[in-house]
Amino acid sequence: MAARDALSAHPADPQSTHPMDRRRFLTALSAPAFAACDFKNGAPEFKGAVFGPAMALGHRLRNNDFPAPAETRNLDIAIVGGGVAGLSAAWRLAKRGIKTFRLFELEDALGGNSRAGSSAVTPYPWGAHYLPLPTRESVHVRALLADLGVLKSGIDSDSPVYDERAIVNGPQDRLYRNGLWQEGLLPRMVAPKELDQYKRFEELIERFKQSQDLFGRKPFAIPSLLASRDVRTTSLDATDMRRWLVSQGFDSPALHWYVDYACRDDYGSLSRDTSAWAGLHYFASREGRAKNADTHAVLTWPEGNGFLTRRTEEWLQERVAEPFSRNSLCAKLVTGRGFAEIDIFHADQNRSVRYRCKRVIWAAPSFVLARVWDNPPPPFRPAVADIQTVPWLVANLHLREPPADTGPAPLAWDNVLYNSNALGYVVATHQVLRVRPGATVLTYYWPHSGEAPAAARKRLFDTPWPEWIKAVLADLKRPHPDIAKILERIEIWRWGHGMPQPSPGFLNAPARAALANLKGPLVFAHSDLSGMSLFEEANYAGVRAADLA
Ligand SMILES: Cc1cc2nc3c(=O)[nH]c(=O)nc-3n(C[C@H](O)[C@H](O)[C@H](O)COP(=O)(O)OP(=O)(O)OC[C@H]3O[C@@H](n4cnc5c(N)ncnc54)[C@H](O)[C@@H]3O)c2cc1C
Repeated sequence: MAARDALSAHPADPQSTHPMDRRRFLTALSAPAFAACDFKNGAPEFKGAVFGPAMALGHRLRNNDFPAPAETRNLDIAIVGGGVAGLSAAWRLAKRGIKTFRLFELEDALGGNSRAGSSAVTPYPWGAHYLPLPTRESVHVRALLADLGVLKSGIDSDSPVYDERAIVNGPQDRLYRNGLWQEGLLPRMVAPKELDQYKRFEELIERFKQSQDLFGRKPFAIPSLLASRDVRTTSLDATDMRRWLVSQGFDSPALHWYVDYACRDDYGSLSRDTSAWAGLHYFASREGRAKNADTHAVLTWPEGNGFLTRRTEEWLQERVAEPFSRNSLCAKLVTGRGFAEIDIFHADQNRSVRYRCKRVIWAAPSFVLARVWDNPPPPFRPAVADIQTVPWLVANLHLREPPADTGPAPLAWDNVLYNSNALGYVVATHQVLRVRPGATVLTYYWPHSGEAPAAARKRLFDTPWPEWIKAVLADLKRPHPDIAKILERIEIWRWGHGMPQPSPGFLNAPARAALANLKGPLVFAHSDLSGMSLFEEANYAGVRAADLA
């Protein structure tokens, strides 16, 4: 979901008979947490299914339920975790000519939260689905995009040229409110007083964008580790985004909704639970430009950021011999002087191997590191225990045709529902220019914000998954009453630990320091390093770790 509107611009399956389809669907079934059933729902029957990360394997960590290592091998550099951060670390090492590494990923596929699926109709995202135009400071994101063929020219310029296919087609977004779709995400048809507040909010954001500290650093840079440490902006982290709005005299319900939506979109967290620094970062940090796109355009692909992880994977495979071990979980880590040992459980062989490494780049979540690290320094575990992760539910709806519209704004790439707990949906086929509309896939995003993350996670998994499917459909029936009639199948994915919550105080929390200041053979690379789960942050964390390793 991408809510970066120009504020002033809006004043006011298994049953398929197609062999390819069936083969692809069966491939998808290899995701361990799978179950399926049929739904009637007073409409033509459709299939439902649930997927998710390899929970059973991950949960074996709790009891350390793995065979003892059968052998010990030497390895120069191990990377643990194959999401954006781990892949970026591998990419950076390979760019520097270092090819003596191996990346271990517990899942059967790389990509982490940027994983994607595929059907005979289209690829589609299971998690991250867009990248804002990279800023000038995002030099490594730009370099990666150039290597992947997405950034075509002007890598050092203010406005590079990007692959036309990746620039989001119009209409980019729309909002369903009061029974109608409107263009853009800022609610229209609001009181004049509210319009004034939109304008004033935009002016404030613009001021943040233009300002710099004595060292020339921006208050809200992306990657965030390059942002100013000036207390005038970092002190914003002491309060939450909602309170900050109120303190600035903003009381427009529509503006509050919009900002709340933005916090849920980027962090899975309500504005009242989000640091004001992080909330403002969403609006003030992204000022990337493109020579061949509008200012507020984003980069996207049918499979979302899964395109970038797949292409990085291919790029590495072409240059490095055997860079990856999938189905390979790090079950134990011991650090010593100048070396680290990791026990990797290779699930497909049901055996463990101990790797004695000169360096370990940890690109899996911090809570997993706290669990497997045998001898961390004493403050490490309590510091990291403070990081709360918000669960997300993602649903992919496979439709025979696009949903009918209730006007006046036509189907967009990003379709957001006002007053919904969820964020709405993106359309996987949006980037495909078709003569006639046909079958499509809608990806529906639902961060489980508003309650303690641990309680939300328990509810997400304790509630029978068919109930979640019913809840998704109930929400979507508001704008699309007949959606069940065009539904072929619906699959959900439960992300138990979707993303860390940047709550007030996160900037200077001991957790970030504990992760950034690891000494010795272990370097931390996961996006938890910044506390904000974004492609650019994960990429920077991976590159930084590769350079330290
Ligand atoms: C639903 C959802 C939507 C999102 N949308 C966007 C978006 O549109 N744009 C955006 O920029 N960001 C988005 N994000 C944020 C996204 O998380 C980041 O962009 C980025 O993908 C994080 O990458 P990472 O490598 O830091 O972490 P992860 O993706 O968490 O990768 C960590 C990897 O480590 C592996 N692992 C864990 N434990 C072990 C172990 N013991 N041994 C081996 N491997 C292990 C995991 O399986 C995983 O593959 C979204 C996140 C979610 C959940």
